[in-house]
Amino acid sequence: MSKELTDKYQLVVGLEVHAQLSTSSKLFAEDASSFGAEPNAHVSVITLGHPGTLPKLNMRAVDYAVRMGLACQCTISRRSSFDRKNYFYPDLPKGYQITQDKEPICIGGRVPFFLEDGSELEVQLNRIHLEEDAGKLIHAPGKEASWVDFNRAGTALIEIVTEPCIRSSEEAVAFLAEIRKLVMYLEICDGTMEEGSLRCDANVSVRLRGTETLGKKVEVKNMNSFRNLGNAIDFEYQRQVGLLELGQEIISETRSFDADGCFTSSMRTKEELNDYRYFPEPDLPPLFLTEEWIESVNAQLPALPNALYRKFIAAYGLPRYDAALLTESKEVATWFEALCAKTAQYKAASNWMMG
Ligand code: ADP
Ligand code: MG
Repeated sequence: MSKELTDKYQLVVGLEVHAQLSTSSKLFAEDASSFGAEPNAHVSVITLGHPGTLPKLNMRAVDYAVRMGLACQCTISRRSSFDRKNYFYPDLPKGYQITQDKEPICIGGRVPFFLEDGSELEVQLNRIHLEEDAGKLIHAPGKEASWVDFNRAGTALIEIVTEPCIRSSEEAVAFLAEIRKLVMYLEICDGTMEEGSLRCDANVSVRLRGTETLGKKVEVKNMNSFRNLGNAIDFEYQRQVGLLELGQEIISETRSFDADGCFTSSMRTKEELNDYRYFPEPDLPPLFLTEEWIESVNAQLPALPNALYRKFIAAYGLPRYDAALLTESKEVATWFEALCAKTAQYKAASNWMMG
């Protein structure tokens, strides 16, 4: 796109990131939430939504959500509650998903991170809430049939919702990379994007630079790689700018990203949007967390990647490149710290480890 057009239109992005929590059982049932089992091996009557069954909240999942909330400097709700989001889809046995709408477990928050050039950015969060995942449809190639696997139905997710404060695909990708690092440092999600443990919807709009009001947004669903996220945002920016330049309107709609062709296409428009009829989940009481419990979760948080990155530069005098590589994973960072307790030759230690 020409410089004239990129000067004229500003990109605005807000992300919704789903992280599958690595609890051994589901959010409201005791069946296993392992990946890769025989289809429909982990489907209790609760998961299948049999009449008369009652959900029971998995406190490990609450612990994990609060860890993430604390790491992102959210306000942890002393009282939160669950809601039903109603819609019909064959991978949703109950006909509704239990989520948190009005009273999410974590409110606000911020995620600081560094770009490759060393500049520091911060993304504001709107909320982090707990919800259950749906099952999976498998469309049989060449057959007029689909299969359904309910193993994933009811597994625990957190959804991390940002404010519309992201201004480039590079920022969006760097933010998602920081989220991935955080959930892995906190040991609450395995971070494997190919298996869908971490996936992301991008809300994209454009507006004339210098204007305040947000443009109409398009939601691009379920990207499961950094590259797809970046490409989808770049494609949408160009598509929307192109439409506006032709004097056409942007339609608020949900689009999907075709990774092979590198384009987005319409899935459903706002007019066809579901009315989810959210209402309070009658089978679950509100969740109350005490000060002491939150403090005990806080006391167990590890050193976070951003803090270690700063420390490796400030205390060990490492170049940004080294600090970034050595803080990619907690194992490597921890190992490097142990090494630095034994030598003052930090740069040599870094070279040795990176090699
Ligand atoms: P909806 O009610 O359509 O789900 P929300 O207000 O809940 O919209 O926002 C969902 C996500 O979309 C958030 O991540 C938010 O930052 C982002 N978002 C909202 N409006 C815009 C916009 N005009 N452009 C880009 N992103 C937006
Ligand atoms: Mg939304």
